[in-house]
Amino acid sequence: MENCIFCKIIRGEIPSYKVYEDNDVVAFLDISQATKGHTLVVPKIHSSNLIDIDTVTLSKVMIVAQKIATSMMKTLDGIKGINIVNNCGEDAGQSVMHFHVHVIPRYSKDDFVMHGLNPGKTENLGSIAALIKTKI
Ligand code: 5GP
Ligand code: ZN
Repeated sequence: MENCIFCKIIRGEIPSYKVYEDNDVVAFLDISQATKGHTLVVPKIHSSNLIDIDTVTLSKVMIVAQKIATSMMKTLDGIKGINIVNNCGEDAGQSVMHFHVHVIPRYSKDDFVMHGLNPGKTENLGSIAALIKTKI
């Protein structure tokens, strides 16, 4: 995509700090580090979001996310855990419309706050599950 910022990074038109690259996937540091080491895993083929991406490419992205996470656990001092995050759609916090997964190292329970995780309600679980199941 001509004007997509991640396509520009993939084409080398914008610099980035790459941590991994193969034929299908690239991983580079997020310019705005939620925590130290925060990395984006990005397919080279442009898809706008989780709904549009083909499943083969999605699998490749997730395999690379696991590689990055494994390396982070071995290399980053003080790391205690990792969040894998995908924002799908503007209202869910997606700002770059080229599918990507955030790999966010965690050093403590309160060093990163994921928006959208409200304290849970537990009513109507049966009807909610029944609704989502209809289109799988
Ligand atoms: P989203 O909000 O779409 O889930 O995540 C997009 C991420 O891309 C943001 O965390 C943002 O900091 C990062 N980002 C935006 N522009 C650039 C850039 O030019 N280079 C890098 N490395 N990251 C970027
Ligand atoms: Zn793109």
